[in-house]
Amino acid sequence: MRSQAVKGTYDVLPDATPTWRYLRSTIERTLGRAGVREIVPPIFEHSEIFDKSVGESADLVVQKEMYRFEDRGGRSLTLRPEFTAGVLRAYVEHGMHTLPSPVKLWSLGPAFRAENVQRGRYRQFHQVNCEILGSPGPLVDAEAIALLHDLLVALGLPDLRVALGSVGDPEDRDAYNAYLREALEPRKHELSETSQERLRLNPMRVLDSKNEQDQAIVAELDAPLDRLGDAARAHLDGVAQYLSDWGIAFDLAPSIVRGLDYYRRTAFEIHAEGIGAQSALAGGGRYDGLVESLGGPPTPGIGWAMGVERVLDALEGAGKLPGPDAGPNVFLVPMDETAIDEAARLARDLRSDLHVQHAYVKRNPGKGLRDADRAGARYAALRGERERAAGVWTLKHLASGEQREVPESELRTAVLED
Ligand code: AMP
Repeated sequence: MRSQAVKGTYDVLPDATPTWRYLRSTIERTLGRAGVREIVPPIFEHSEIFDKSVGESADLVVQKEMYRFEDRGGRSLTLRPEFTAGVLRAYVEHGMHTLPSPVKLWSLGPAFRAENVQRGRYRQFHQVNCEILGSPGPLVDAEAIALLHDLLVALGLPDLRVALGSVGDPEDRDAYNAYLREALEPRKHELSETSQERLRLNPMRVLDSKNEQDQAIVAELDAPLDRLGDAARAHLDGVAQYLSDWGIAFDLAPSIVRGLDYYRRTAFEIHAEGIGAQSALAGGGRYDGLVESLGGPPTPGIGWAMGVERVLDALEGAGKLPGPDAGPNVFLVPMDETAIDEAARLARDLRSDLHVQHAYVKRNPGKGLRDADRAGARYAALRGERERAAGVWTLKHLASGEQREVPESELRTAVLED
């Protein structure tokens, strides 16, 4: 047996968990103040939920990336590769369209994709996800982008680049895909294998290729923004206007397309400098029609997903990660056998409002103080025969080395003093 985590997965070790709590509390504050409520959908869904949302012409690359298995009843289940499908399934299942509109939902948790593992690209990774459902206008698109932007700023990442684009309305996409097919078909053999597959299934996704030769070829062609219909263009202008009014800097991204099929109109990404090739911290877009395809009433929606690992990487680069958890207020050191149980009992009592640790075996003062120090304690309290006879503990402030005897009943107050 190999005691090793599966490739592309990793452990969040105790030293790193304060960062995750910081992330969660910042989300709760920033999104909560805008009326975004938390939803916790299951990690796996019936496979058809993802098939329907990802679309018939689903990018084979995305399809192949899904962790799919049969349960013992022969049902096909899929570990979520993203949150939107599951959140929208819950929205439909619980009739949330009857709630005051727009309905705003956030989630935090793992997602799973069988991808090539590299820096910033894992097989179990984590996303903060946000959906705003029920409003078709550019105002909520701008709000969605602003919330994402403000969350990243609140986390400590001010140097952001918002890339704003549009994939157009379905008619625009069809026309653009037809244009791409016509332009690229004759040069098909110059494209990478993945792009050839995409050309067949969903030509627009060729624009997403990281291959340099593919990029050089598509650079000669019109971008989706060059071929937007009037309605989609007006919508994009509306979003851009709000962002400008709110002082959120952005660049128009003529060729931004999203990995999944269901997007229409607004598409956006946020990048950070200095975290390597995988610089996209988050991405999102509008998906009117997706709720309907999951069996709900026609409902417009927009959402985004932020990659937690990449954000933490960027925070680390910027020196903004929170420090480790504080150590105990006091560490109890039993200096004889009797004091072991006394320390355990006193620890239970003091833990009603203090962080207290103790040694589980008899310790001489030198070793006991070293234990206290390693635990990051503020005080050490020592007990041996002499202290027991006097009803006291020897209390030592570890930073200053100051030491005094304190009656057991006054230990709590003494430890809280400075
Ligand atoms: P997507 O759902 O593909 O738009 O991804 C949204 C965000 O999730 C991206 O901008 C990344 O920050 C992050 N992300 C996507 N795939 C991975 C992965 N395999 N490993 C780590 N982060 C990822």
